[in-house]
Amino acid sequence: MAKFAGGVHPAGCKQRTAGAAIGVCPAPEQVYIPLSQHIGAPARPVVSAGERVLRGTLIAAADGALSANVYSSVAGTCRGVIDHITASGKKAPHILIENDRSDESVSLPPLAERTPESVLARIAEAGIVGMGGAGFPTAVKLGVHGRADVLVVNGAECEPYITCDDAIMRAYPQELVQGIRLAMLACGARRAVVGIEKNKPEAIGSLRAFCGEDVEVRPLRTRYPQGAEKQLIYGCTGRKVPEGKLPVDAGVVVVNVHTAFSVYRAVERNEPCYARVMTVSGAAAGRPQNVWVANGTPLRAVAECCGGKEDCARIVLGGPMMGEPVFSLKVCTGKTTSSLLFLDASECENKVATPCIGCGRCVQACPMGLSPTFIEEAVFAKNYAEAKRFGAESCIGCGCCSYVCPAKRFLAQSVKLAKKIIRERKV
Ligand code: SF4
Ligand code: SF4
Repeated sequence: MAKFAGGVHPAGCKQRTAGAAIGVCPAPEQVYIPLSQHIGAPARPVVSAGERVLRGTLIAAADGALSANVYSSVAGTCRGVIDHITASGKKAPHILIENDRSDESVSLPPLAERTPESVLARIAEAGIVGMGGAGFPTAVKLGVHGRADVLVVNGAECEPYITCDDAIMRAYPQELVQGIRLAMLACGARRAVVGIEKNKPEAIGSLRAFCGEDVEVRPLRTRYPQGAEKQLIYGCTGRKVPEGKLPVDAGVVVVNVHTAFSVYRAVERNEPCYARVMTVSGAAAGRPQNVWVANGTPLRAVAECCGGKEDCARIVLGGPMMGEPVFSLKVCTGKTTSSLLFLDASECENKVATPCIGCGRCVQACPMGLSPTFIEEAVFAKNYAEAKRFGAESCIGCGCCSYVCPAKRFLAQSVKLAKKIIRERKV
């Protein structure tokens, strides 16, 4: 097994939710469905205030080549497009739908045949995006016209606490392998490799029962960030993606487990992407679990379902390494919302940065071979050309540098800032 350099080994903290059946979060009275749940242009609303919609009605259409359709997750009445708070603290357009509790739904029309073109078109029609967090429209990613011979499926789930992909692999292995084969058909890959960290033996066993010569399960060592794109490709295929290039330049396309499962649902069950499984965990979550959640559900409703305490030490959307703190439970879920953590004081560190002692641990831990401490110095000096020279643009935001720093420096944040400024100012 090809091992990537660097990385860290944080405590997994997955025991609270691993192994249990997937629950269902009741759909709330109102859903606020974001028009932008993906990379690219926000979707364009196609429903008006007062219009009745069903679960599965198209409410906003992809606007351009890099965008994604958005569907209603409940049956009810559209109350129009409103600006609603997002995890970043800024407001963005959402479609507000009042749930009438009729639970009426509508499906996509059945596919007459399974060809690369028809499956790709269905993936686009269903509004599927990268559900591991990136939100890249999946039809665009898979539309590589035979330039990839391997599909790598990301089942590493290396972030502490998060177990939703593990839950899908254990609960729906046959459906997932069907989704993987459909994704292979869409992108023209001859084989697929599912990368799963070795700490998920049940998922490895469940999937292997349905794999053949075309789909292989590859157990990977448990080391963060094993699920980062370049590290995963290396672990699954031994191929290195050249600096500044895309996975397809190494003949690879990567999709996440939940994304492949959504491909199955769209093609075989004619269900567009309007709900997902997410992990709710942390010591301040009374009933930690993996749950199906309708897109557009306010986090408060998810918290009520899982006993999340609003007055806990920190609420995090995503994992503890790469996630973001949330300051309002009015924020709503979307296609990329993989987890919500309610952490108590014992799980959070209130860091006070002290001067760098030059130990070099951040350099050893960086999986991209960067020198975070030098980039931080360049940021403090506002010398972004120097930060670029030190490779800030290659940072994958994994947070390993901050995690290992004994001086508690905010290295990952500094490198992220450098990357943002280099891009914005075209340094
Ligand atoms: S510099 Fe970026 S890629 Fe390297 S460890 Fe820090 S966050 Fe990760
Ligand atoms: S890990 Fe922290 S203390 Fe050590 S060299 Fe890097 S920034 Fe300095």
